[in-house]
Amino acid sequence: MNVLVINSGSSSIKYQLFAMPEAKVLAKGLLEKIGEETSALKHTAVEKGKEKKLEQKVADHKAGMSLIFSLLTDKEVGVISDMNEISGVGHRVVHGGEAFSNSTLITDETVKAIEACCEIAPLHNPAGLQGISACKEILKDVKMVAVFDTSFHQTIPDYAYMYAVPYEWYDKYKVRRYGFHGTSHKYVYGEFCKAANKPNANVIVCHLGNGASVTAVKEGKSVDTSMGLTPLEGLVMGTRSGDMDPAVPTFIMSKENMSAKDMDNVLNKKSGLLGVSCLSNDMRNLEEAAKSNTKAELAITMFCYRVKKYIGSYMAVLGHVDGIVFTGGIGENSPYIRGRILEGLDELGIKCDADKNSKARGCANFEKDNAPIKLYVIATDEEKAIAMDTYNIALK
Ligand code: AMP
Repeated sequence: MNVLVINSGSSSIKYQLFAMPEAKVLAKGLLEKIGEETSALKHTAVEKGKEKKLEQKVADHKAGMSLIFSLLTDKEVGVISDMNEISGVGHRVVHGGEAFSNSTLITDETVKAIEACCEIAPLHNPAGLQGISACKEILKDVKMVAVFDTSFHQTIPDYAYMYAVPYEWYDKYKVRRYGFHGTSHKYVYGEFCKAANKPNANVIVCHLGNGASVTAVKEGKSVDTSMGLTPLEGLVMGTRSGDMDPAVPTFIMSKENMSAKDMDNVLNKKSGLLGVSCLSNDMRNLEEAAKSNTKAELAITMFCYRVKKYIGSYMAVLGHVDGIVFTGGIGENSPYIRGRILEGLDELGIKCDADKNSKARGCANFEKDNAPIKLYVIATDEEKAIAMDTYNIALK
């Protein structure tokens, strides 16, 4: 039984085909630049060890899905002989608003509710909907499941999700904290509980990638998270500012005569590590450049300091912490950044073992022997989590 996982962006489709229930990856790929003059697709048939790259015009998501299906069933690089061998499709949907506290079977009602969330996620949800409708047109009656970045955070209490602004903004526009990366936070939390043999643990999960967020998980439930109404709030990210005085944007907008749209663009695409370093949003480049570039060093220091502040505040939120987990491209791959975030926290029971930290990969702990708080690196796998939810909800 095979499940196809689709992560549809505004001009891209990422996909993975899984054999279930063992969650073995059969094929994966990425189609980019949909709608542009030349689109690019890279497809990999995992077990065959074969790869195919295509460059051709792909007009829209439906044409993109047709191309992906033709490769999945291709004689040379295909992994199934017929589309009927796809039993279910799992779609990543960014924003489920308050309507979805769990992954859900896609029905006409589900689609309407996702459409309703477009108002608060105009940049993200339309792309997810395009992926859903393209698959539905081609695969007709195959069962599909929507998995939301926000749903894991629906357990956050009102005093943590409300902003201290006029209440009518919530009534009228549903302005509140939603949180994102929920699929990843939930997945690595589950892996921590298994690896550390601590069911229902209290854990601080740090998902540190180009987008980054921290979540406080209490006995399996998200009780606070750093991202907000949109993914802009919280940590210093690759190109997003994260937290700041909300007066900064209005001050600069009046000084520089900027529109709300221009400001949104700067805060999302030209800020964060890139904005401060004036160099790059890529942590690898910054680590290298920081040896001689003071702005690169400042950007790294700000990044680590912000994560440390969230860890401290979520320790207070949770009261008792069993573990801190690092995931995402930076969290999984940079012992240097993990070490810098955790330095000076011994008194709080956070004791990083430098040698174990330098070797930690995949799923590994790196706290000093007998330290009260476990420190883990756990590789996230959002696609696998989506495949599992799809299987459990639609096919089991
Ligand atoms: P993600 O968005 O989770 O794919 O993560 C992307 C980020 O991970 C980029 O900033 C990369 O620079 C960073 N990254 C990946 N590998 C490493 C590494 N070995 N050291 C430092 N940063 C890394």
